Amino acid sequence: MALIGVVPSWVEEKKITVNQDYVESVLRAGGTPVLFPVTDDREQISALLARVDGLLLTGGQDVNPAEYGEQRMPCCGDFSACRDAMEIPLCREALTRRMPVLAICRGMQLLSCVLGGTLYQDLVSQFGTQLSHPRFDMPGDPVHEVDVKPDTLLSSVMGAGTLRVNSRHHQGIKVLGKNLRVNAIAPDGLIEGIELPDHPFVLGVQWHPESLSDRYPDHQKLFDAFIHACADHRQPV
Ligand code: MN
Repeated sequence: MALIGVVPSWVEEKKITVNQDYVESVLRAGGTPVLFPVTDDREQISALLARVDGLLLTGGQDVNPAEYGEQRMPCCGDFSACRDAMEIPLCREALTRRMPVLAICRGMQLLSCVLGGTLYQDLVSQFGTQLSHPRFDMPGDPVHEVDVKPDTLLSSVMGAGTLRVNSRHHQGIKVLGKNLRVNAIAPDGLIEGIELPDHPFVLGVQWHPESLSDRYPDHQKLFDAFIHACADHRQPV
């Protein structure tokens, strides 16, 4: 079975956590999730990646704006320096290893930042959309549409055209990271999905498929395709 490294959130001093929805979505897809520790030790990061077949970058706190070359503004949310310090080199090395990566919400934003992108520190303050993206009141229900672009990895998994998604984010991608391609876009023009064309499977989504996958089979398909790619990638024992 494909072993999937799951990045945890650093919620408070010396406590890590992961939403069980991620774990169950990986299990339903036939993968074996394993919760990673939070460490910025490069040897440990390499040792962890050497033992898994894929990396799941999960949601969580904002990325420190310093990581994409900006001053933190008052509208920016909390960030976790120790999580950034782990996840940035972790993501970078996973890409170097050409390991499958599924990047969700913060994970998608981090993936773009790792490749040189920037973020809106707060959509309401900086993007000026009429569409409400921070719908934390409806965590597990579709609240807006996205348009899935044809001829993308995402469309090969979920189909092209209109898709209903949940939305638990107050930030979004401003400048897209290098070599990334947009595969889904909200009606207000905000990037809702990205992928890395020159790679077997690097997929990021701004919504939370793990909180829809138990009731909406299309969203489970994302995890199924990810686990399938991870099994293909599996390193010889
Ligand atoms: Mn959204």
